[in-house]
Amino acid sequence: MQLYADIVLPVAHGAFTFSLTEEVVAGRMVRVQFGARKHIMGVIWRVHGVRPPFAVKPVEEVLEGTISEEQMRFWEWIADYYMCSLGEVMAAALPAALRPEGLSGEEFAGEIYKPATESFVSLAVGDEVALNEAFESLGRAVRQYRALLEIAEAGGPDVPRKRLRADAAALRALEAKGLVRIMKRELAKGELPDLPVDLPVLSASQQRAFTDVKEKFDSTQVVVLQGVTGSGKTEIYINLIAEQLAAGRNVLYMLPEIAMSSQLVRRVRAWFGERVVVYHSRLTGRQRAVVWERVKSSQGGLVVLGVRSAVLLPVQNLGLVIVDEEHDASYKQEDPAPRYHARDAAIMLARATGAKTLLGSATPSLESFFNARAGKYGYVKLAERYGGVPLPQIMISDTLKAVARGERTVHFNKLLLDRLNEVLVNGKQAMLFQNRRGFAPYIECAECGAVIKCRQCNVAMTWHKGDGMLRCHYCGRAQRLPTVCPTCGAAALEPRGFGTEKAVDELVRIFPDARIARLDRDTAASAKRYESTIMAFEHGKTDILVGTQMITKGFDFGGVALVGILNADNLLAYPDFRAAERAFQTITQMAGRCGRRGEQGQVVIQTSQPANPLVRQAADGDYEAMACEQLAERAEFLYPPYCRLIEVTLRHRDAARLWEVANRLAMSGRAVFGRMLLGPQPPLVDKVRGEEILTLLLKVERGSSFADARRRLGELLSDKHLRGVRITCNVDPQ
Ligand code: ADP
Ligand code: ZN
Repeated sequence: MQLYADIVLPVAHGAFTFSLTEEVVAGRMVRVQFGARKHIMGVIWRVHGVRPPFAVKPVEEVLEGTISEEQMRFWEWIADYYMCSLGEVMAAALPAALRPEGLSGEEFAGEIYKPATESFVSLAVGDEVALNEAFESLGRAVRQYRALLEIAEAGGPDVPRKRLRADAAALRALEAKGLVRIMKRELAKGELPDLPVDLPVLSASQQRAFTDVKEKFDSTQVVVLQGVTGSGKTEIYINLIAEQLAAGRNVLYMLPEIAMSSQLVRRVRAWFGERVVVYHSRLTGRQRAVVWERVKSSQGGLVVLGVRSAVLLPVQNLGLVIVDEEHDASYKQEDPAPRYHARDAAIMLARATGAKTLLGSATPSLESFFNARAGKYGYVKLAERYGGVPLPQIMISDTLKAVARGERTVHFNKLLLDRLNEVLVNGKQAMLFQNRRGFAPYIECAECGAVIKCRQCNVAMTWHKGDGMLRCHYCGRAQRLPTVCPTCGAAALEPRGFGTEKAVDELVRIFPDARIARLDRDTAASAKRYESTIMAFEHGKTDILVGTQMITKGFDFGGVALVGILNADNLLAYPDFRAAERAFQTITQMAGRCGRRGEQGQVVIQTSQPANPLVRQAADGDYEAMACEQLAERAEFLYPPYCRLIEVTLRHRDAARLWEVANRLAMSGRAVFGRMLLGPQPPLVDKVRGEEILTLLLKVERGSSFADARRRLGELLSDKHLRGVRITCNVDPQ
């Protein structure tokens, strides 16, 4: 019987059918011809005998690699839940170096996935006499003669192939004549170092939390560990990890990208050394492939320390997943598909394999808090800092009052400047947070009020004074700052607002002797510079560190006595149901960077809304008050966690066509979902890279089937009248 295989290829599509010339099991990697000349790697999803009603090509080659059954089911879950194709999941999950695309046959052969094996060559002839005969028999076959000589001279059996200069053809010929043996051997897996004997000694309350977490794991699969900043969650993780490794299991330890500082990696490495496998976005394709293979071949005993995409690594024998800073929005992949949430995917993965999941945060996401309160997740709280260090004192500084009193110097209220001065005099350090990079977020004409916008995006361009360019933070386009207003021609262009670059500029003027550094996406573009900025601050060579979101997380610097939030209003201004929650998280995380050893730290929040309840809750460190108020609001207006959301985004260059299609979709959608389908409406930035954008929002109430809603939405989106408009679905948008 002719066999066929449905094969997943790393393209935005479901499986493709090919014919098979040999029996192969699902999960096997294969090489197929795709398009006229391209050869790409695929994964066999299903083998069957159903001849498709169209011509199919044969699979070109069955490769060595495989995807486990567990992985296949996990990919299927991601594709189904996040409404994307298996091909997109494959593209995200398999490192590019393992699935070279668009190569010729020979190129491909040199690149394909190879298990970690090494070839060894040894003489097959018995003694000196036989060897001499062999040499004679080779006569004029010079290359074979030399090859044999080389092997004989190398002495000993099992000469590593890579040490020989002989070419493959000569070796194969010698092998065919029975003169040498070529053997492939799996490389000895890098031996794992011993586990540490003495682990971090936990304080009494840490010990209680540690025991509590384990007890909760007896009855629940997921536990939320809410530990205030500086409570030493990492030390608890390390103790939990050690137990898993000792039991021979693997651990997945996930962190948001920007918290994956070398500082934390060093801390974890200090305990587990070579058992730590690090996976982040700065690895090259090759390095990713190496990690992938190391993880795949491990039966246990490894700590995989990685960012969002680490959840897609083929970890077997998984005992525990730790999702640190579980509230962090960067766990959600926004673009491209699969638009998965690594925390939620981790919970699914762990559930499918019988592992446990620990969600750690000082400020858990309201979803996790809600699940904990409902008893669905276990909940453990660690309310005090390690070593009895008090939590920082938080002061709210009213910007409008400061202006009225003449107590504001550019962007700094007197209160903050006074504290900064104290810090500098005392030889301590300060961190200042501003969630805008660049110099000025926008340039405005003082004559006509026009703002310079990007030509391709409906958004103001940010002025970067350092290199004198205006940059669009959406598409990256850059242009020189014009000398006159492009709208009215007046020479009255003025920078408005301020970003990190300007904050540093002003600080240098106010504190000429202070050593000031900046950390944001611009200065951290090079890994080296990022590292050196952090090192300098850690070693006290910098007094003030100004930065964006990048400095809020994970860092544990001992000398920081003061934290300043330069403009909390920015955080509150997002028109998003999560804005308050996020603002609370950012302020709390930022505040948590100071006073981590001994003396109490101080935090100054500059805002023009001192009475805003969120600002008060953040200042009081009152997470419960924030959570209760926000949850009440979400219940009232029906937002997560009281429902699930799917955001449908439509993009097209022609606004009229876009509206037409969006309205059509909204109409047909309302016939199915009624008032639970909202929109179309333009998002905050409604044009990017020349494409107009509209969104629709589907709310799915708890209790009604989410799977059913996704399926019905999927059907609506396959309407052929929608063609030509780019449509993407974002399930559980953040
Ligand atoms: P969190 O991640 O909860 O904010 P960290 O894990 O960074 O807190 O811990 C804060 C600081 O306290 C770190 O410098 C850490 O090394 C120290 N620390 C916490 N627990 C212990 C412990 N049991 N023994 C020694 N040092 C600890
Ligand atoms: Zn742009």
